[in-house]
This record gives sequence, structure tokens and C-alpha cells, in this order.
Amino acid sequence: MELLKDTALFKQASFVNGAWLSAESFFSVTNPATGKVIAEIADAGVVEAELAIQAAKNAFNTWSSLSANERGSILRRWFELIILHQEDLARLLTLEQGKPLAEAKGEISYGASFIDWFAEEGKRAYGDVIPMPSADKRLVTIKQAVGVVAAITPWNFPHAMIARKAAAALAAGCTFVVRPASQTPLSALAMAELAQRAGVPDGVFNVVVGTAARAIGKVLTEHPDVAKFTFTGSTAVGKALISQCAGTVKKVSMELGGNAPFIIFDDADLDAAVQGAIVSKYRNAGQTCVCANRIFVQEKVARAFTDKFVKAVAALKVGDGLAQDTQIGPLISPQAVTDVDSLVNSSLQGGAELLLGGERHAAGEYFYQPTVVAKVTQDMPLAQEEIFGPVSPVITFKDEAEVLAMANDTDYGLAAYFYARDIGRIWRVAEGLEFGMVGINEGIISNAAAPFGGIKQSGNGREGSRYGLEDYMEIKYLCFGGLDK
Ligand code: NAP
Repeated sequence: MELLKDTALFKQASFVNGAWLSAESFFSVTNPATGKVIAEIADAGVVEAELAIQAAKNAFNTWSSLSANERGSILRRWFELIILHQEDLARLLTLEQGKPLAEAKGEISYGASFIDWFAEEGKRAYGDVIPMPSADKRLVTIKQAVGVVAAITPWNFPHAMIARKAAAALAAGCTFVVRPASQTPLSALAMAELAQRAGVPDGVFNVVVGTAARAIGKVLTEHPDVAKFTFTGSTAVGKALISQCAGTVKKVSMELGGNAPFIIFDDADLDAAVQGAIVSKYRNAGQTCVCANRIFVQEKVARAFTDKFVKAVAALKVGDGLAQDTQIGPLISPQAVTDVDSLVNSSLQGGAELLLGGERHAAGEYFYQPTVVAKVTQDMPLAQEEIFGPVSPVITFKDEAEVLAMANDTDYGLAAYFYARDIGRIWRVAEGLEFGMVGINEGIISNAAAPFGGIKQSGNGREGSRYGLEDYMEIKYLCFGGLDK
């Protein structure tokens, strides 16, 4: 960790109630670019998860009783410290996750922007005064923090997926326990160090890192002192966790998997569409929940688009995320490479046509070549499943009705994108797509001011925006009677 300016950001233990906990056993964190071990983390389990919930419960009354301005000032200091240490945090992120350093810096400022946003938004948790139904009554609503929030987050955005949840929860007055993915705990622990420096009181922000995903998950979802559970990860795990929350009727929000259509109509600006498809698909080596998973091109422009697109993909530089010019880093594990390769092969065996790539990359066992596959059909695994790798399946279509039917033919409903110029078509397609977020002539859509979230089996609830706070607050109705006496 000699690469860091501030080596105190490198932590290897859970952070509970303001203290770093030791453990009897340790687990390794690996740099996916090199396969080398970069950290040995104290392996926390059920006991530490319970301690964290107890600490969050103890801290709740004091934290939720602060004014929104006081909480906002502390959150603002946390945001400023994250930005001050952006370089170090980005290095840690690239080391444990693999994405190119420029993308890692982008993730840190993206995550921090939610802390900045909710530091302000917490001040606007307004209630209502409801017009009286009878002369002797006045009706009022107030909003109150739900209580202790537990979270589980994935490895693909180790900083931002925590920041998006914790910022809203803390601003609302909740206290927070997070279990980050065991492949990428370092970013979460560095956030805890900076939260403490910012003045976040002990017990308000806790991080439990351990390999016992199921056992810790059971505590976080079933503990009676947890009022709300929030998860970002795969739909399969999300479904299991929702059912675990049923026993204590927790408030639940889910940010799950996606199968985003990226549609290019024949009136689109093709160069803009190529650029949009590149950033949407190949960012983080294709390991994002909102990335283009199926590229639909209208027949008339299919050839022209594909030629330009293949040329742009072929120019992407693959390598270690810490190298200056890298645009595509490693996948998270050798198993992920095997999974992507088998998705590509099964589609090729089914009649798809390989235009570029299609093999493991010479950079090492964590790397896969940027790939484009044409003549994909809707029933092939490449179109049905979340690819989570640098592979673009291209599907051609005749008209609006056909592409809308194909785009919506999925259990997922997170993000969708399309490129077109005709205003009537833009409205029809925007309204017809069954997805929670739609990029129109735009391949990157997420920001702190906008509501991030999916429909169908991509989840429920929204993160960011003015709606993001509501997931962490309850509405309480107050009825004042006897006022005519
Ligand atoms: P995952 O397997 O569902 O894991 C996500 C998290 O859940 C990790 O922390 C994992 O821990 C933990 N976990 C796994 N099984 C568990 C269980 N039975 N009980 C409790 N916790 C459990 O997902 P992933 O493969 O890491 O992440 C990729 C998925 O996340 C994709 O589907 C992607 O679309 C989705 N995602 C969605 C969004 C969104 O905002 N909608 C954003 C990012 C990612 P370990 O890693 O330690 O096993």
C-alpha cells in the first residue's frame, strides 16, 4: 500500500462502533489485474454483525435527534474528505476491483456526489398540512427516520453502491450497518476511516467485512432491531433476501440485475450512438447493472453502425487498470471469464456470427477480449442473461413495434437506451420501454439528482434524487382534535 499518500486509509478489519475489530481468522483480497494478494482482512461473522446492529441501535436516538443541518454539516465534511483523498481512494478501488484508474476516480466523485446531495436534501424532508375534514380537527404529517438500516453491496462499484445508500440513510437520521462484497472490502473500510475523521459519531456508520455472506446476511435481514434492509446485487440473491426480511416485515429496497436494451433507430446520429454504446457497454469491462446488454440496430443502418462500432471496440486498450492508457481492465475472477466465454460460445454454436474478439485475453486469466457478436437472436443466452463482461450482442430489427416487443421481453426492467431523432418516435419509445430509467441519445444516465432504480425483477425503491430520502423515512400522521372548544 506504498502507492497511497495517506496509508491510514488502508484498513484490514471491520469497523464497528468507532473501533477496528480483530478476528481469529483472515481472508485474502486479490488484485484481479495481477492475481496477487493485496490485503489480509480480519474475517468477521455473525458476532460482529450483531455487535454492529447493537451499536447502530444505541447510536440511533442521538443521531436522529440532531437537526438536519447538523447532520448535513457532518455529511458535508465526509464528502470533502472523500474528494480530498480521491486519488488514494481510486487507487485502492482499482487495486481491489480492477477498473481503470480514471474510471475509479469517476466512481469516487460519483459516490461522493450522493453524500453532497443528501447533506442538502436531508434539510427538505417536509411533511404536509392536510386541509381539515371538519372544523374541530387539523391533520399533519411528519417524516421520521426509520431506524437502523442494514445493507449488502456488490463488488462492481465498491465505493458508490455504499455511498448511494449511506448518504440517504444518514441524512434521514438513520444509523447504518453495511456488509460489502468480500472481494472488495478495502474501499468500504477507507470510507469508514474518513467518516470517523469527518465526525460521524461512533455506531452511526459500521462496516462488517467477512466471507460468511449467507450467515451475516441472515443476521442483517432477520434481526428485529433492523428496521430497513437495502441490497444491491443479483436478482437471485435479492429474492432470497426479500423473503428473509418477511419474518420481521422490514422496509426493503432492492437494486438488482439488468438486461438493458440499447436501440439504434435508422434516424439516429450513428457516431453519437457508437460513442454511447462504447461507454454504456465497455465501462468497467461490461460489469455494470445498467450496461447495454443487447444492442438492437434497425436493418437499414445495421451495416453502417456495426462497421463503425467494431472499429471503435477494436481500438479499446486492455490491461492493468493502474496503467495510464488502459480502457478495459480485468474481470473480477477467472470464473467470471469462464462464464462470459461460455455465453459467447453457446451463442456462436446457435448460429451467431463473431465480428471481433471472442476469446480470453493474453493479459492473463482475469482478462477477456472486447467482443462483438452479430446475428444474435432473442432466444440465445447472450440476449437472455446478464453478460457482465466486455461482449456486445448485436440484433437487427425491422420497426418500432418489433424492437419494443423484443426489448421488453425480459424479466428485468432497470435501464434502457435508444438513439433516434424523430420527436414522435422518441416519445412513443420512451413511454413504451418497460424500464425504470431510459437514456435517450445518451449512454451514461446516472447522477445524484436523478432517481436510480428498476421495475419488474430489477428491484424496487429509488436511490438518489429527492425520492431517495423517502426509502429511509416513515410518514407519521398526526390528527389534532378538539380544536373548536
Ligand atoms: P451477488 O452475488 O448477488 O452478490 C452481491 C452481494 O451479496 C455481495 O456482497 C455478496 O457477498 C452478497 N451475497 C451473495 N450471496 C448472499 C447470500 N445468500 N446472503 C447474503 N449475502 C449474499 O451479486 P454480484 O455478482 O456480486 O454483483 C453483480 C450483480 O449486482 C449483478 O446482477 C448486477 O446487475 C447487480 N447490480 C445491481 C445494481 C443496481 O443498482 N441495480 C448495481 C450494481 C450491481 P460475497 O461477494 O462476499 O459473496
